[in-house]
Amino acid sequence: MKIGEAARRVGAEVHVLRHWNDEGVVVPDRAPSGHREYTEEHVRRLRVVQACRGVGMSLAEIRLVLHRGEAGRAGAIERRLRRIRAQRARLADAERFLEHVIDCTHDLLTRCEDCTGYALGAPEPVEEPGPGAVDGGDGR
Ligand SMILES: [Zn+2]
Repeated sequence: MKIGEAARRVGAEVHVLRHWNDEGVVVPDRAPSGHREYTEEHVRRLRVVQACRGVGMSLAEIRLVLHRGEAGRAGAIERRLRRIRAQRARLADAERFLEHVIDCTHDLLTRCEDCTGYALGAPEPVEEPGPGAVDGGDGR
């Protein structure tokens, strides 16, 4: 199928698919005419890429994940897993906080130890490091 149909199938813009092609993430074959030819396999890959983008993965990371045998693949996956686990922990903290706040009887949040405890325990916002950046502190 041509790029327009592939884009329609996954609900993306054509220029996005071109960009993913240029970045080596999903690279369709070329017809003799030069048009990109997407197969069902490409459509499945496009959906995987969309799912990965939806959880904040960069195209560089996704390329590594999709291509077995790429150098640095295991490390990139390990870093993303650590980030996902840290995000899950922060979300769990936020969930506990909000579940408490809805029932909190203090007139001011700052007078409640449970409320302020959440803020004190919250980590600094984490910057998204670029590819190859090292997550410090765990000796890897
Ligand atoms: Zn409270």
